[in-house]
Order: sequence, then C-alpha cells, then structure tokens
Amino acid sequence: MATTLERSSTSHLRGLRCRGCHALAPADERYICGECYGPIEPEYDLAAFDAETLRDEIERGPLSLWRYAPLLPVAAPRGHFTVGWTPLVEAPRLGAAIGVPRLFLKDDSRNPSLSFKDRPVALALARALELGLETLACASTGNLAGAVAAAAARNGLRAVVFVPATTDEGKIAGAAAYGATVVRVNGTYDQVNRLCARLADEERWGFVNFTLRPYYAEGSKTLLFECAEQLGWRLPDHVVIPVGSGALLTRTATAAAQLRGAGLVEEGALRIHAAQPSGCAPVSDAVLDGYRPVRPVRDPVTVARSLAIGAPADGDGSVEIIRASGGSAGSVSDAEVVDACALLARTEGVLAEPAGGVVVATAKALAARGAFADDESVVLYITGNAYKGTIERSALGPVVAADADEFRTKYAEALA
Ligand SMILES: *Cc1c(COP(=O)(O)O)cnc(C)c1O
Repeated sequence: MATTLERSSTSHLRGLRCRGCHALAPADERYICGECYGPIEPEYDLAAFDAETLRDEIERGPLSLWRYAPLLPVAAPRGHFTVGWTPLVEAPRLGAAIGVPRLFLKDDSRNPSLSFKDRPVALALARALELGLETLACASTGNLAGAVAAAAARNGLRAVVFVPATTDEGKIAGAAAYGATVVRVNGTYDQVNRLCARLADEERWGFVNFTLRPYYAEGSKTLLFECAEQLGWRLPDHVVIPVGSGALLTRTATAAAQLRGAGLVEEGALRIHAAQPSGCAPVSDAVLDGYRPVRPVRDPVTVARSLAIGAPADGDGSVEIIRASGGSAGSVSDAEVVDACALLARTEGVLAEPAGGVVVATAKALAARGAFADDESVVLYITGNAYKGTIERSALGPVVAADADEFRTKYAEALA
C-alpha cells in the first residue's frame, strides 16, 4: 500500500475517519474501514485555518472547483479540464410561478459532460492519478458514465463503464463517443452496482464509486462551497437536492459544516430537502414517513432514470441529515416532473434533464406546504442537462414554405 503521497501543499487532511466506529486511518489505498468495514471519509484540521487567509486564497484561485483545494483531499491533476464554478442565478420568473420569492438555480448542467458528476469524477481522477491507476471504471445510471469517460479521455486513461441496459440512449452514446467501453447490463442499477462491487475486488481499476469513493464523494461538497461564495460567503436558508445514492445530499451537509468550522460563513441554519421521483423515492418516503429507516425500492420505474437507485448507499445518512437540519422532502409523479422541466425551460431558459424537474416539482410542493418563508433564500440544484437526450418533445407548429404570407396565415393563432 502507498502511504506517503504528495498532496496539495495547503490541504489540512488529517486522514480518513470511519463513520461507523470513528477510527482514524491514514489516507492510503483503503476505501472502507479496516476495523469495522464501515464507510470512511476524509477529515480535515479546520481549526488550523485562518478564515481571512483561506478566503483570500480561495478567491485568488482558479475558476474551477480546484479553488477549494485546501478543503479537498487531493491535489489538482495537471491537464484536467475545467470543472465547476458554474453560475448561481436568480430565478424570479420560476419563483413567481411556484410561489418562492427568493429563488436561485445552481445551474450545474453546465459542466464539461453536462452534469454535476464531473465534480466527483474530478476528485476520483486526481486520486487515481496519484495512485498510478490506468483504468477508471464505474457503475452508473447514465451521467457518471459520461463524466468518467470524458475525464479518462482527457487524461489518456482507459474507461470501462457499467450501466443498466435501459439507460437513456444519448448518455450511452455519449460515453461511447468519448472512447469508453460501455457495458450495458440487463438489470437494475442495484444489480449493476453489485456486479461492480465484485469486480472492484478483483481488478486493479479505479472504480470511482467504490474503491475511490472516499475521494469521489468529496467532489460533491464543491456545489455548496460555490453557492456560499456566490452569495457573498453566506449559506442559503434552504437547498433542494436531487437524491440518487445520497452522496450529493450528505456531502452538502459536510460542506456546510466545513464552511462554518473554517469560519468562512456565519453560523446559520441551512435546511436540506430531498427531491425524488415517486417511482423511486426511498429517501423521500422515509423522511415523509417520520424520518424512519430507508426501505429499498426493488423495481424503480421513473422518467428520472438518473435518480433510479433503489438501495442508496447514503440513504439512511441522508434521512438523518435532513432531520437534523430541519428539512423535508418531496416525492413527485412523472407527470409533475415533465411539467416542471417544461416550466423551468419556459420561465428561466434552463433546459434540465428530468432530475431538474424532480427538484423544481419538489420545491413547488414544499412551497405549497409552507416550508419557505418569503424572505428566505432557496437554492435548487440543477444537476443535469436535457441536451444529453432527455428532451420531452413539445407540440410543434406546421412546416411552412419559405413564404411570408403562408407563415402569417399558419402562425396567426400561435403568435396572437
Ligand atoms: C447522480 C445524479 C444525482 C444524484 O447524485 P447522488 O450523489 O447519487 O445522490 C442527481 N442528479 C443527476 C443529474 C445525477 O446524475
């Protein structure tokens, strides 16, 4: 096992802490706790930071997620493409439509492979390069496959990605176009996941969501880091997060704790809400059912295929975080998801994949339940782009001859 690896000169990484038995281990090649096989996470010495110096260092940093390098467990790889520093935009027209006066969109659909998965992959890639691995691999519901394939292509690594055979065509085609070996598996994501867990033990590949998971998951913190900085070093009052495995949701809470711990933001409540489609809502159902333990969903059926994870790795962790933060959840129907995608596109010019519709529809449901006060800021994570091939076909007008009169006649009603 490699023990002493060079890291970012400024990182204050202490080691990897087990969430089960709390043992602290060195940041070597382990990816689960050697004592109890529990999940392990990087831990930092936040007290060692001077808030002013750290804020300056971040603000002078690159316009990518690597501006937060002191709060990340690996050094930026040379040559990797730019991930992160996506816009946080006010959304007054959507806000008026769903009854949320201070609404913001964190538009993370604008990353190199058009989803937020480029963030965790940037961290996993950096770690894989530190370890000298030559192959990146993953189990994916679609977007992770593209992010892994793109990152591998850019860095001259091999990529092997495993997806359910029912994955959105455009996402499969995209991953293959980047040169990855795309393995379509007959089965649910959870079955793909079990296959990969087995292969991860047998192949010396960097499985981003298994053997590199402690690093991979840290990439998801950077969405909240950016939101806080973009709000003038302040946490939003609410954030609505689409949940698949629960990594993004749980690491949003980690990020808030680190921002507070390092003195970068004031103490203040950040309420964290989960958004899931009703066809696969193990976390939202547990929250809405009194914060009970998660019960796996055996056969997820939803238009939001990127969120179709029936047995989420960070499911119970998500429920606990939501409860502790004073947050809630939404479980929304496919019809609501499709309507919400259309509403988002029409009101704000953001064309999100169904996961974005799940978030917008959840925010609308939460607003109707009175979850947000009028003066509270509400951030919606928009995590994937519909141009990857998930655009719902809207009604189109007739095709016309290249003739002004014909155009005016046939479109008189539509444009009245
Ligand atoms: C993977 C994914 C999520 C959920 O992320 P987890 O960390 O697995 O919970 C949300 N939105 C999109 C578009 C995704 O691809």
